[in-house]
Amino acid sequence: MKKHNFSAGPSILSKDVFTTSSKSVLELDNIGLSVLEISHRSKEFVKIMEDARSLSLELMDLSQDEYTSLFLQGGASMQFLMVAYNFLSTSASYIDTGAWSTKAIKEAKLFGKVNEVASSKDNNYNYIPKDYIVPSESNYLHITSNNTIFGTQFSEIPNVDCPLFADVSSGIFSRSLDYSKFSLIYAGAQKNLGPAGTTLVVIKRSLLNEICREVPSMLSYKIHNDKDSMFNTPPVFPIYACKLSMEWLKSIGGIKEIEKRNRLKANKLYDEIDNNELFEGFAAVEDRSIMNVTFNLTDQSKKDIFDEIVLKKNISGINGHRSVGGYRASIYNALSLDSVETLVDAMKQFEKNI
Ligand SMILES: *Cc1c(COP(=O)(O)O)cnc(C)c1O
Repeated sequence: MKKHNFSAGPSILSKDVFTTSSKSVLELDNIGLSVLEISHRSKEFVKIMEDARSLSLELMDLSQDEYTSLFLQGGASMQFLMVAYNFLSTSASYIDTGAWSTKAIKEAKLFGKVNEVASSKDNNYNYIPKDYIVPSESNYLHITSNNTIFGTQFSEIPNVDCPLFADVSSGIFSRSLDYSKFSLIYAGAQKNLGPAGTTLVVIKRSLLNEICREVPSMLSYKIHNDKDSMFNTPPVFPIYACKLSMEWLKSIGGIKEIEKRNRLKANKLYDEIDNNELFEGFAAVEDRSIMNVTFNLTDQSKKDIFDEIVLKKNISGINGHRSVGGYRASIYNALSLDSVETLVDAMKQFEKNI
């Protein structure tokens, strides 16, 4: 029996993705070859790549005239340096909302001046800073839209005069936003989109003419785009699985529908955290993430009892990150309401047993 998988990443994918992709490992669409052995230049894979690129824009309501989409390698961590390498000519602004932002800032500093315009480090990143000024001459403002480790998210996208960049790894396709406010977003696939091994980058076409220095080919957005995201051999299987995952999302009604389901799941879990005296939430209420729910026990000495219940209910992957402690339930797009209800039941049972 499959477990209820609350892992932060690599993480749960929809059943459709597991079923279709595993069949395609044996044989892709009756072509007599496995998806693992076809050339990336074959017409079958070229179509998969085209579909994946266009679906990603379609889901976010972005036009192909204005934006382009790439599937690259190196994870979101590679994007930390790639955005700065390509676009940080003088100074860029960053909001520090946790470990991933901190890493992005560290890499950016190799290429120019970084203005850390705000940080929530003073309270172990349990909130999203609200008051800050972004110098209009910044090459860009970089934010982490959803903070996987701390369980916070930007509920509103900052309005700024400079281009807005975002690491959306753990929040991609989870809620409706005006995605046209962003000039560049990126997401490591393994949080809410597909298996590890590829990173979705969505970038305004106009930005491709503003690359500010000589950049090695493999790190140049322009070259990857000129080569239709196939400058070198792309990670064929992860991109294929991402395509299936986006097709699944489209088939159930796209971001609008998934947001409804995500909010329902998140509300159920937060309600239990707020109403059950044995638990407390970590993130500031107004900044709570709808993807990563962080919470702790009010009495640590009862941990073994709760963990035992969790184990019995076949719940997997809810241990918190070491920098926060406690628990983190990642309730990504593909996680069912049933899994959330199972976790809520475990919390209620714990309360009854104490
Ligand atoms: C997981 C994560 C990363 C790191 O992704 P890799 O693909 O492992 O490099 C970066 N940013 C956020 C917000 C993440 O959740």
